[in-house]
Amino acid sequence: MTSQIDEQTIDADQVNFNFENSFARDLEGFFVHCEASTAPDPQLLLFNKPLAEELHLKASNLHTTVGAEIFSGNKPPEGAMPLAQVYAGHQFGNFSPQLGDGRALLLGEIIDKAGVRQDIQLKGSGQTPFSRRGDGKAALGPVLREYLISEAMYALGVPTTRSLAAVSTGEKVFRETPLPGAVLTRVASSHLRVGTFEFFAARREFDKVRRLADYAIARHYPEVADAENPFLAFFKSVAHSQLSLVARWMSIGFIHGVMNTDNTAISGQTIDYGPCAFMDRFSPKTVFSSIDTQGRYAYGNQPSILIWNLCRLAETLIPHIDDNKDRAVEILTDEIKGYENEFKSIWLNLMRRKIGLNNEEEGDLKLIQALLNAMEESEADFTLTFRRLSRAISGDSLGTRNLFVNPTSYDSWERDWFARLERETISKECRSATMDQVNPVYIPRNHKVEEALSFAVEEGDLSAFEKILSIVIKPFDEVAGQESYAEPAPETDIPYRTFCGT
Ligand code: AMP
Ligand code: MG
Repeated sequence: MTSQIDEQTIDADQVNFNFENSFARDLEGFFVHCEASTAPDPQLLLFNKPLAEELHLKASNLHTTVGAEIFSGNKPPEGAMPLAQVYAGHQFGNFSPQLGDGRALLLGEIIDKAGVRQDIQLKGSGQTPFSRRGDGKAALGPVLREYLISEAMYALGVPTTRSLAAVSTGEKVFRETPLPGAVLTRVASSHLRVGTFEFFAARREFDKVRRLADYAIARHYPEVADAENPFLAFFKSVAHSQLSLVARWMSIGFIHGVMNTDNTAISGQTIDYGPCAFMDRFSPKTVFSSIDTQGRYAYGNQPSILIWNLCRLAETLIPHIDDNKDRAVEILTDEIKGYENEFKSIWLNLMRRKIGLNNEEEGDLKLIQALLNAMEESEADFTLTFRRLSRAISGDSLGTRNLFVNPTSYDSWERDWFARLERETISKECRSATMDQVNPVYIPRNHKVEEALSFAVEEGDLSAFEKILSIVIKPFDEVAGQESYAEPAPETDIPYRTFCGT
């Protein structure tokens, strides 16, 4: 395809990108202006029309070669101010003082229909001053993977960045083998990370940490601006958003895979989908990422790793919490001490809903833990076990108990559960329906995702991808004929492995 567009930028009227770029305007010194590389033959592969509409974009005009030119980075729409943000980060526990957008560009911000400021970012658009030894590019497989999983997470009700478009560039990128190149357009409520704060704190640029915190407060937590200690209140808000986020991940069996501090968003959204995956059979030790050899980011470690990451954020804020450093450390330490319990109580409430409990009782934690223990021992599938519990309420326990290697362990748990349900006041029908709204039937099953991605990458055929996408964006609606998308992979001896999208 040759470009039919000759101008250097795309006319605003044509596509309606109403950029309102606060980061470029207010945070000089926190980024560098940059241009995207040229994609030789951009083709629009995926375009998220409902999301485009939420952003007030002219979807019909973007669903053409114009979209391919914009979303490849070849022709920025009028008003875009492409820039690469700087950040640092603790990666697998070690501090990297200089990271930054090495393969991404923020085109600008748009206020969406709900009045929320959204970053429009290209990922895979070429080198920036922060690329280090990388090529700044992305391969098609990881781009499609992020598109799919982020949209599935959105549909599952988990705070997340979203995917507006995927474009193939017509260029090969070189990893272990040559692979088709692609660019993802990501929409995020911001790209501020714990690592952004760490970058300036490590350089002892405390004024800049303060400006960043002021910006983050105005953008994400305006309610704390008038607090007695706004920076402490800001920290609490970020912590609360992140604790709630990770509790949600845990409640659906999601494993992020690279919970480095540069992948922990200040907004509380899930960000940077790399080697992430959903767990099949329940085991807290589950790790999919090939680079996570020590299991640092295993499923069951996610809450404690989050708290570790929050400690790194707290450290950057010390000078702004109290003039007396020791006092500031004491205040923050006291605050963080409560996070394990805060996490547990958010998680417990999510888990209560999964097993149909509306009231809160003392013994609920024990009941839920007993189910998880039985599931672990019996290698039961996480998603299906919870989904099928609603059927057990109506007398059909077989589907659930069959998931357990030792079905009697389920039977005895079920007796305790039914006894507990007796003390609830909601009708059976209402309870089942509510459970089916929180326990998905369809998650992106690893083997189905891999199948769809290899079809797309090796055969250039997106039909399997489009099929699975259409299913995972309606995760709670069971549809006849889609049974294979609800099932875990057939048993094999080869453990599932995911790879970073770099
Ligand atoms: P990630 O592991 O994807 O969170 O990325 C960690 C850091 O590596 C970030 O600074 C990225 O911008 C950078 N990075 C990842 N892949 C590439 C690439 N292909 N080219 C340049 N920089 C990259
Ligand atoms: Mg990252």
